[in-house]
Amino acid sequence: MPVKFQTMKVEMAGMDMHRIGGGNRPHSVLCPFDWHSNNGKFAKTVTGHTYAMVQRGYQMGFVPHVTIAKPSELPELGATIVSSSSKSALGVATVSAEGTPLACSVSENGMGVNLNCQSVSGNSVKAPTGFTEAEFPILTRYQWSDLYDALLTTLWDTAFGWGSGQTVDRLGKGKSPQQRSIIKKFISEKVKPIIEKGIKRLGHATDRGPTSSDFFDTVLD
Ligand SMILES: [Zn+2]
Repeated sequence: MPVKFQTMKVEMAGMDMHRIGGGNRPHSVLCPFDWHSNNGKFAKTVTGHTYAMVQRGYQMGFVPHVTIAKPSELPELGATIVSSSSKSALGVATVSAEGTPLACSVSENGMGVNLNCQSVSGNSVKAPTGFTEAEFPILTRYQWSDLYDALLTTLWDTAFGWGSGQTVDRLGKGKSPQQRSIIKKFISEKVKPIIEKGIKRLGHATDRGPTSSDFFDTVLD
């Protein structure tokens, strides 16, 4: 079965749940992959249909969120956008470019899901609520291990987002939601990769075989 691969031509559209005005409200999200705020995880020299191929773990930030909001709720909506993210978590380990597996669709027709930010009752979590349509076909299929890696990524990102969000909210009680969002964004973009690198190094130092080494290379990449 051919699965399709993500290129920078793809767009993400979906519906996230975020806290606003004291309750949880669905927010429409829409973002092209070729977006100014991204973590650079796309192949610089490998293209599909002339567009750069997207690698597993590609993440966009400052994702536009739209919801019905009163003017007084706009600062909260702004804070949601500042700390937002959308990530391509599913890839095929056997198809890579520049050393990193490429991000792929879930289904044969190219439908894929991105791991999007949510903030239900003030806790940040990640859920696959961003839909994508991949366009570049390659004759391959993903393995159970690829799905397992995507699941571990979901759990890790959710646990980290929840934990760091709780910590910032608890320690930054005197700060506004916007200031806290900026701190959360800084932690997820600058501090999280450093922690992941540290865990990875520790994981390789105490390597117990290919499975654990795989885990450190794929989930934390
Ligand atoms: Zn969101």
